[in-house]
Amino acid sequence: MDIAVIGSNMVDLISYLNRMPAEGETVEAAEFQMGCGGKGANQAVAAARMGSSVLMVTRVGDDVFAQTTRANFEANGIDTTYVLSSPGPSGVAPIFVDENSRNSIVIAKGANAFLTPEDIENAGTAIAACSLIVLQLEVNLETVYAAIDFGNRHGIPVLLNPAPASADLDFAQVAKCDYFVPNETELALLTGMPVDTDDQVRAAAGTILAKGVPNVIVTMGSRGVLWLSQDGAELIQGHKVAALDTTGAGDSFIGCFSHALVKTGDVRGSLLLANRYAAVSVTRRGTQTSYPTRAEFEAAPA
Ligand code: ATP
Repeated sequence: MDIAVIGSNMVDLISYLNRMPAEGETVEAAEFQMGCGGKGANQAVAAARMGSSVLMVTRVGDDVFAQTTRANFEANGIDTTYVLSSPGPSGVAPIFVDENSRNSIVIAKGANAFLTPEDIENAGTAIAACSLIVLQLEVNLETVYAAIDFGNRHGIPVLLNPAPASADLDFAQVAKCDYFVPNETELALLTGMPVDTDDQVRAAAGTILAKGVPNVIVTMGSRGVLWLSQDGAELIQGHKVAALDTTGAGDSFIGCFSHALVKTGDVRGSLLLANRYAAVSVTRRGTQTSYPTRAEFEAAPA
């Protein structure tokens, strides 16, 4: 196995509305779509579509959404041995999108809240056979910390995407990761510093580097990516594309970066590839539906 993604899965329930309902009001949706999501699942799918073998460690409930999620992992060739079941609902995300593309999102974590440090130990043999552990913050922090600790004990590099941002995140744990990949908003929230200019992003990311994380990688939407390491800082400019839907761009970036990193060990080359992969994804609609396969990516205009 190349990559262990330890984290969340959700089923997105997206209603496209002419306008958001007022309090107490019922409105009719012009259109409805269901899609597989959750940051962990998204990152796993992007890495798998690029050709990595991916182990998913997550929890689903005992409802119809669990079947949808399992089938989606299987369709993408992801190892589901540790897609564990809990009684009760799966994670779902009811999403409302109005005619101006503004959205309101509710996350009901469901079974994701029941992924425990014991689950990680139980999946230990499979995780220990992977070359990279990829984490986000849609499962309990104690589980995230247990996964970081597992990686450290077994000499497996750990990538942490601190999304959604949590003010409770322990920087002593962050310092034990090899790759810390926030977006600008998360970086601002975690450091309490402004991120309006490239220099400000660099200064804020520098405070995390100073805590001992070897690679701080800040995704900055259309502006691209800033990479800080002991060797210095490099800004990788975003590709100029006609963006159609940027939902899940960060997850596509992390999935592709993880894939390239385990295959090549070249951080800079992996950032360049992921910057292009994520740019292609924003030209396509949806979240996982926008993630190209390797063949589609290679055929996409540069
Ligand atoms: P999301 O929360 O929607 O998943 P995010 O905020 O975590 O996204 P971003 O920083 O917006 O992540 O985007 C991740 C990467 O995707 C960027 O670093 C860049 O490589 C690429 N990207 C995003 N938006 C654009 C765009 N408009 N044009 C080109 N590339 C983009």
